[in-house]
Amino acid sequence: MAGTLRIPGFVNAHSHTFQRALRGRAAGSDFWAWREVMLAEAERQTPDLVRDAYEQGYREMLAAGYTAVGEFHYIGVREAHAAAAAAAAAGIELVLLHVAYARGGLDRFRQESVQAYLEQVESLRAAGIRVGLAPHSVRACPAEWLEEIGRYADGERLPLHIHADEQPKEIEECLAEHGCRPIELLARTGCLMERTTIVHATHANGAELDLLSAHGSTICACPTTEADLGDGFLPAERVRTRGIPICIGSDSNVRIDPFEELRELEGIARRQSGRRGVFSTDELYAFGRDVGARSLGLDAWPEIEIDLEHGSLRDVDSEHVPAALIAGCGADVVTS
Ligand SMILES: [Zn+2]
Repeated sequence: MAGTLRIPGFVNAHSHTFQRALRGRAAGSDFWAWREVMLAEAERQTPDLVRDAYEQGYREMLAAGYTAVGEFHYIGVREAHAAAAAAAAAGIELVLLHVAYARGGLDRFRQESVQAYLEQVESLRAAGIRVGLAPHSVRACPAEWLEEIGRYADGERLPLHIHADEQPKEIEECLAEHGCRPIELLARTGCLMERTTIVHATHANGAELDLLSAHGSTICACPTTEADLGDGFLPAERVRTRGIPICIGSDSNVRIDPFEELRELEGIARRQSGRRGVFSTDELYAFGRDVGARSLGLDAWPEIEIDLEHGSLRDVDSEHVPAALIAGCGADVVTS
């Protein structure tokens, strides 16, 4: 169609779609206060609610240019089937990152053993749902669970996603329990691989980043959520110098806009370094697409169409459109 440009779709590597309901109403004083409101919202979820709200959420992602999503799912097996049905109805590629939760959180999050968790994973696979392994965090999973899950992900060649180093308190607790930091514990328990994605890594120190680099693991950055929750921001320049692959996620879905996530990522790097163009336009698009797809184990995902006549692109030469999309556009430039 004249006036449009077809480009590969974006890959949303980390989403908790039910959290979209919290936008504007989970103020609180910090992450931990927000978490209480989030847990109350999680508690009230049912398969019917998930089926409806997730289809709506996935349609919003598609409208914003995300054509694949990794759903980091910790609210139950029946709800996992509902999420998969919602994704099929909306027409988005889904990888269900089924969460292992041994302790803390809500009753409904927890499995009684790591074997019970892996049986859930097997049952989802048997139902034809594309899955990944997702120990929630080192807060929620003890070392024995991590060892077993790492072994299974490696043996079955499945993605492994885990939250780590989002909040300083989580690191302090890990140091107290294990005498090492979260990413060091993941290395010790066999959870760091090329197929591993660390969600956030906001407060990762140099030794932890070196481990990610040595194991070829990926970081999923979620800049709009990390800002909203007061987490902090990715040590972008230190990640870049180590060549650690980065992908993006809409996480809490306060914002659903891949251009904004990428712009924030580059903005963080500029604020930290005092330079411009820390990541090239090509690198930023790779973060938004190929790296996310690899992190989820996806080979193919649909394209999208950009409205070149949108006001945000007025008078932009065609050669500058890719950079202008990231620098100055919102997701409303996506037409399909
Ligand atoms: Zn998350």
